[in-house]
Amino acid sequence: MTALARIRRFLAEHAPPTPCLVLDLDAVADRAGELTREFPGARLCYAVKANPEPAVVARLVAAGLSFDVASTGEIDLCRSLGAHGLSYGNTIKKPADIAYAFGLGVREFVTDTEGDLRAIAEHAPGSAVTVRLLVDGPASATPFGRKFGCSPELAAGLLVLAAELGLDPAGVSFHPGSQQLDPGAWEPGIAAAAKVFAAAGARGVRARRLNLGGGMAVGYRGTAPSIGAYATAIRGALASHFPGGTPELVLEPGRVLVAEAGLIRTEVAGVRDDEKRWVFLDIGRYNGLAETENEAIAYRVEPVTTRDGAHTGVILAGPTCDGDDVLYLRTPYSLPASVRAGDLLDILDAGAYTASYSSVSFNGIPPLRTYCLDGGTEGTDDR
Ligand SMILES: *Cc1c(COP(=O)(O)O)cnc(C)c1O
Repeated sequence: MTALARIRRFLAEHAPPTPCLVLDLDAVADRAGELTREFPGARLCYAVKANPEPAVVARLVAAGLSFDVASTGEIDLCRSLGAHGLSYGNTIKKPADIAYAFGLGVREFVTDTEGDLRAIAEHAPGSAVTVRLLVDGPASATPFGRKFGCSPELAAGLLVLAAELGLDPAGVSFHPGSQQLDPGAWEPGIAAAAKVFAAAGARGVRARRLNLGGGMAVGYRGTAPSIGAYATAIRGALASHFPGGTPELVLEPGRVLVAEAGLIRTEVAGVRDDEKRWVFLDIGRYNGLAETENEAIAYRVEPVTTRDGAHTGVILAGPTCDGDDVLYLRTPYSLPASVRAGDLLDILDAGAYTASYSSVSFNGIPPLRTYCLDGGTEGTDDR
């Protein structure tokens, strides 16, 4: 039985209140296995922000993954579930956060500025440091812009300084942008990393680790390259820029591990015919569909309730009293012309960046509830 079939069986048997996210943990584990096979020898650090559901983290602990954490809260979560090999991947952190992480055994940190590096040296002495590069490359659906990373020249200097401060100058990282559909997008970062390794080497510091970030995409309404296609492109870029041998590789997959394992069931809250037909759902920008901002992610939406007749173009919008809570104004969507309040819809491939982005109570609407299916036994989260 496929993950989708298991999820739909659960929904048919239990008819939980909507909106809800149903996640199939076996599908998450399968993806982890595929990544492990396609990138043999690479260390996989799950980017916890994609879906911090405890059952997901626990499943990936069991699968032997490490974790890319971005805050003390994510560290607490991972440690409470027995996770090891935490990498503090957020370049933005306060000295107190560094000290807290170090106290809980975190020994790997990512940085991109001298101030943060000196804080790591002071509060996490002897830790391994990875310097994040800012690389230009093909745009992704949800890019990081210029918020993170430094130039290759500065990165080499930071690795040298790390060594001088008694830290372990492990290597460099970059992120090619989330939902990155171009497997060639890793090449500019790999080329820049090779330059940094050479520049640091010329100053007597041997870096050894290359963190390729996340970014691998899922299909949603279109298609995405397979994990194998990403692996092939990345291997090619590594061979041309590191002819003397590949560094230790780290990957930080988020979306590609969890998105396809999840489905959101939603109910039509109302329909209004204007110049166009507006269909209001019980889920919107603030209770799970944050990535519809700028219509960056266009989810596959399928009617569950059967209605005869032709489909008609619709604007999909969320339930709150907020003018920005519109999901798709430009991206074309259509639903049966006779759609009405109470109809159910499924939003597919919705396991990543949904529940974790849900507000605590905007307009009195509670956060998106998650149900996890674990090999036939289902559990709810009861937060
Ligand atoms: C968000 C994030 C990831 C995960 O990115 P995906 O595109 O979801 O794979 C990995 N690394 C860092 C540093 C991140 O911030």
